[in-house]
Amino acid sequence: MAALIRALRSSSSSSYYTNYFIRRSLSTAASTTAPPLKSEPFTPFMDTKGKHVQWVFLGCPGVGKGTFASRLSTLLGVPHIATGDLVREELSASGPLSKQLTEIVNQGELVSDEIIISLLSKRLETGEAKGESGFILDGFPRTVRQAEILGDVTDIDLVVNLKLPERVLVEKCLGRRICSQCGKNFNVANINVKGENGNPDISMDPLLPPPQCVAKLITRSDDTEAIVRERLRVYYEKSQPVEEFYRSQGKLMEFNLPGGLPESWPKLLEALNLDEYEDKQSAAA
Ligand code: AMP
Repeated sequence: MAALIRALRSSSSSSYYTNYFIRRSLSTAASTTAPPLKSEPFTPFMDTKGKHVQWVFLGCPGVGKGTFASRLSTLLGVPHIATGDLVREELSASGPLSKQLTEIVNQGELVSDEIIISLLSKRLETGEAKGESGFILDGFPRTVRQAEILGDVTDIDLVVNLKLPERVLVEKCLGRRICSQCGKNFNVANINVKGENGNPDISMDPLLPPPQCVAKLITRSDDTEAIVRERLRVYYEKSQPVEEFYRSQGKLMEFNLPGGLPESWPKLLEALNLDEYEDKQSAAA
C-alpha cells in the first residue's frame, strides 16, 4: 500500500501528484497481488492466506456500484473505497475545498483529477496506517486519464462493469435514500420497466429502511432529475471510454443486472466464481 501511494504521487506530470499521491500505497499492493486476470472465464484470486484483490467497479450513476462493491468488500475482507463518499466527506467537513466541490457536485460535473487523486491518496494513507491491503474502487477511475494514472502505478486485476437501462438508473437515483445516522443506503422506488430490443423486463422491489432509520432518511443533493441526467451525460462522455480502456486490456467483465439485489447478488457471485466461496464463509461464520 505504501508503494502504491508513492507511485500515485509521482505518476502525474504535475508536481501536485508528485508530492501527493499514489506511488507508496499502490505499488506495495501490486507487489503482493495475485496473478492478474487475463481471460474468460474469470478465476478469482483465492489465495486463502493473503487473499488480495485490486478491483474496480464501473457503471452509470445509480447502477448500484456502491451496494455491490460494499457487499464484496465485506465478503473478501478488502476495503471498499468510493471516491464519491470521499467527496461527500470533504463537503460535510466544510474545509477549504467544500464550496468549490459543492458547486461541481451539484452541477453533476466531475471534480478535477488533482483533487480526486489527493482525496484518494489521503484515504489510502489512512488505510495503510490501519494495515489495509487490496481494494475495491468505486467511482474511480472516471476518466481515461485517471485510469492511465492508476495503471502506471499498480495492476488492476478485474474491472466489473455493472449495467442497467437508463430509465431504471434515473428511477433508482430518484428513489435513493440514505440514513443520516448509520449511513446505509435504501431505495423507495418500485421499479417495473419493460425490456426493449429483446432485453428482459426489469423489476426491483423497494429496499425499505428499518423503523429506526425512517425518520433519519436524507436524499443526496445531486439526486434530482436534472442533475442525474447531467451526471449520465457526463458518464457517457468522460467515463464510458474507461470501459474500452479496460476492455482492450482484457480486464472488463460486463454484468447486466437482472433485477434488484436479491436476484442480482447470487448471479454476480456466480459470474465472479465466488458463489462457493460465500457458502464456505457463511458456514465458517
Ligand atoms: P458518486 O457518489 O460516485 O456518484 O460521486 C459523486 C460526485 O463526486 C460525482 O458526481 C463527481 O462530482 C465526484 N466524483 C466522484 N468520483 C470522482 C472521480 N473519480 N473523478 C471526478 N469526480 C468524482
